[in-house]
Amino acid sequence: MSLFKPTWLVQAVYGLTAARLKEQGIRAVFCDLDNTLLVWNNPDGSAELRDWLAAMHDADITVMVVSNNNAKRVGRALEKLDLPFVARAMKPLPIGINKAVNYLGLAKQECVMVGDQLLTDVAAGNLAGVRTILVQPLIESDAWNTSINRFLEKFVFMTLGGKKHLHYSEDLNGK
Ligand SMILES: [Mg+2]
Repeated sequence: MSLFKPTWLVQAVYGLTAARLKEQGIRAVFCDLDNTLLVWNNPDGSAELRDWLAAMHDADITVMVVSNNNAKRVGRALEKLDLPFVARAMKPLPIGINKAVNYLGLAKQECVMVGDQLLTDVAAGNLAGVRTILVQPLIESDAWNTSINRFLEKFVFMTLGGKKHLHYSEDLNGK
């Protein structure tokens, strides 16, 4: 089950501060698109998200989207935010994350993968050898997943300890 175990659990991607990321030596945040960075009904992103992206930019931390969606869909979703991305990442395979690491020319210890799904985002990050952050989905929706995936997701979450042992903090804790 360690394949699905995130390094950290954080409430939302915009809770991550440059100070705590830098403490961990992180220079690039790879971010899942759907329900991690954006929700389908708000392609502009929330004010919190835009403030967070500006703060990352000021701190010289790269935010790069790593999505399983195709380039057309991802490009369109990110039009307003102007972020670099890897599409068709094939998560849970590590292919897309490795591409992003190579593209930026960073060491794996300098990168972290953030996403709302253990079965794809966290597994892909762990397989790629980067640290991982599980966030809560921005909204509960059925569009993002099949019910079987959802079921497996819950099962894995319970196996890792469930809500009692895993709780989402606001920012990176000291681990
Ligand atoms: Mg997602």
